[in-house]
Order: sequence, then C-alpha cells, then structure tokens
Amino acid sequence: MRNKDPLKHFKYPVIPSIVENIRKWYYDSVQPYAPKPTKGGDEGRPTQIQCAIKSLEKKHYEVLYVSTREEALKIVMAMIPKGSRVGVGGSMTVQQVGIFEALNSGDYTFYNQYKMDLTSDETYEIRGKGLTADYYVTGTNAITMNGELINLDGLGNRVAGITYGPKKVIIVVGINKFVADIEEGINRVKNYAAILNCKRLNLKTPCLETGKCEDCASPERICNHLLITQCQRKDGRVTIVIVGEELGF
Ligand code: SF4
Repeated sequence: MRNKDPLKHFKYPVIPSIVENIRKWYYDSVQPYAPKPTKGGDEGRPTQIQCAIKSLEKKHYEVLYVSTREEALKIVMAMIPKGSRVGVGGSMTVQQVGIFEALNSGDYTFYNQYKMDLTSDETYEIRGKGLTADYYVTGTNAITMNGELINLDGLGNRVAGITYGPKKVIIVVGINKFVADIEEGINRVKNYAAILNCKRLNLKTPCLETGKCEDCASPERICNHLLITQCQRKDGRVTIVIVGEELGF
C-alpha cells in the first residue's frame, strides 16, 4: 500500500527558498486578519534570548550560541561521533542547516524517515528506531524566557524523542523561535507555524482559509500533540544550539 502518512508531502531535500516564499505568502495573504504570532517585536528579542539562555542553563540544558547556520552545522556534527545511530524529528530548521545531508554521508546509521519512496509501514518503523538512537536531532517550535520548550507535533515521534528515549538530544533553533511566555509560544505555533506548515505541505485544513487555528478534526491535521517541556531531569541530555538567524517557521 502507498504511503498514507499526512507528512508524505514533506519531501527531502528542502529548497531553502521555499521557507522564504511561504513566509512571504503568510505576510502578504494571511497576517492582515490572523492573530499576531508574537506579542513583542524584534526589539525585545535580544533580552528574551538572554533570559531564555539563563533559564535553560538553570534547568539543566547545555546551551550553545553560534552566529550562522554554517557554524551550527559544524558544531552539531562535531557533537555526533562517527558510527552513531541518529534519529531526527521533522524540522525545517534542521534541514536548512544541512544536517540531513551531513548525516547521509555514510559515516552514521541515519534513521531517515524522509527518504523517498518509503511505505507508511517503513516510515513508522524508522521513526520508532529514531526514538532509541544514540542521538536525536530536531528543532523546537518555541522557547520562552522562562526556559520552557513548546512543541506541537503531528504524529508524536518528535515530542517523544525530546521527552525520552534517545541518549542525547540536540535541538537547533533560530532566533525567531524565542517568545515571552507559554501563551505566546502556543499562539505562535498554532496561529503561525502550523499554518505555514499546512501551506508548505499543501494540506486541506481550515486554518489555510481563515488564517487561524480552528482546532479542526481534519484527517490532515498536523498539530495533534502539544508538549510543554518545563525542565530537564538529566544534566546535559539536551543541548540547545541557538543560531543567530531566522530559521524554519
Ligand atoms: S488544528 Fe487544524 S486548523 Fe488548527 S492549525 Fe492545526 S491543522 Fe490548522
């Protein structure tokens, strides 16, 4: 049977301009009537990021900051020893940084659920293997000043990997994902990021018509599992690599 996965349109590799085109579509066509994705503007962002870093370090995360996606690629790949088993969560940020290509070099056992022409059963199995990998690389939908991570997931494997399973989790995040608080983070992911992802995946969901989340029961709904990670139990299990660029949605 062919792949019935709602994320089947999530083709690999991503063409970087797709992200910019979809953002442009949002600002041209949706934003005038959509809820604002963030309370503050760009002015407050450096303070938000500084507060978030302090909070994250207190909450047992390792936090690294790099200026560019090229530096992020180097630092992430330096963290993953050759020969490791690596899983990934769906993330435009991770793809834009070039981590998928690097993991495909042949030096790793890469559990890549986005390989072309996989059946639904195959992608399910690969996602499962990713959850017991040595390393798990993913993005996050938002980070608050209080150090909470907010993630909204379609199938659940990404939030599962962040929560438990892989020995080491590396989260790559652009500066556009920093928000004041949980309320703003949830608003950002439901009324902004999810809509852009529905557009990118060419889904038929009501948010594309109304410009805001309608809490739909569409078979193509991509936001089913909302995870708010408040703290980490284990020191350094999760490393957050902050990149000084806007990445993903
Ligand atoms: S729940 Fe439905 S309407 Fe809301 S953002 Fe997700 S796909 Fe769109």
